[in-house]
Amino acid sequence: MYHKFDKFPTPRPSGRTLHPASLPPSVNWHLWPTCNMRCRFCFETFRDVLAEYRGRVPLGRADLVALAEQIGPRFRKVSLAGGEPLLCPDLAEILATLKKHGTKTTSLVTNGSLLIIRPELLDELSGCLDWIGLSVDSAVPATLAKLGRAVRGQPILPSEYVKLAERIRSYGIRLKVNTVVTTLNCMEDMTPFVQAMKPDGRWKVFQVLPIQGQNDGKVENLLVAPESFSAFVDRHRPAFGATLVAETNDMMKGSYAMIDPVGRFFDDTRGRHHYSEPIPQVGIDTAFSQVRFIRERFDKRGGEYPWE
Ligand code: SF4
Repeated sequence: MYHKFDKFPTPRPSGRTLHPASLPPSVNWHLWPTCNMRCRFCFETFRDVLAEYRGRVPLGRADLVALAEQIGPRFRKVSLAGGEPLLCPDLAEILATLKKHGTKTTSLVTNGSLLIIRPELLDELSGCLDWIGLSVDSAVPATLAKLGRAVRGQPILPSEYVKLAERIRSYGIRLKVNTVVTTLNCMEDMTPFVQAMKPDGRWKVFQVLPIQGQNDGKVENLLVAPESFSAFVDRHRPAFGATLVAETNDMMKGSYAMIDPVGRFFDDTRGRHHYSEPIPQVGIDTAFSQVRFIRERFDKRGGEYPWE
């Protein structure tokens, strides 16, 4: 499955003077491109990357650990995402490497299925993992199945999500819940379900995001108008207050620093992924200077919050 990415030379100085302060405090590292679910709206399918690498995962263990050594000292918070990051067999080592090299806060964005199938994963990860973001879009299993948020057609049941949330908290790991609003769930009231999961200060609610090259051809009939998205947020706001963090398409685009499974920064400000050169080749500052990151949008969506 792995392809040793042996084209990377030793990192070299960029030759340009770039101010390190231009980096935000947090980054989403999408280190694993494949997933065991098939969400039709998924805006990080990396189908372009997988086509380029003929379905193989671009970076093997040594490359991922080396990249973690570069990323660790430069970001106070690193969120590991995918695809499904728990499919990466080296996740515990990568988390430990990030911590060892300076990252204060680590986070994992997961669909949760592997934490249910392999409960021992939390034992392996808990020492180096501060937050888990659990992605779930509905309390109705049939809706999850229609969305493709399911493993081989089988969605996780609401009771299983709630039990998993309890187990995550029992390890001292803080819990976030992530929900994407589409035409299939925009009328739903998820209040009792999300309250039962007891997110730790954050329920992130995203307006489904169309990205050319990632979800075009699948997402079109799931797109919701801003008014439908606002109605979903307004329906839940009284119960959740500031815990509910809502992000429209405009707030999302350009407001995240993101690294792809090849080790490149990327942005989506132009409606499709635009990639930098690989960090191991050019270094973090030069690579970051090659993508568009809008600090005002990061600040406006509350990108920095009390995560430590
Ligand atoms: S679980 Fe996440 S990464 Fe996997 S298909 Fe769904 S949205 Fe995409």
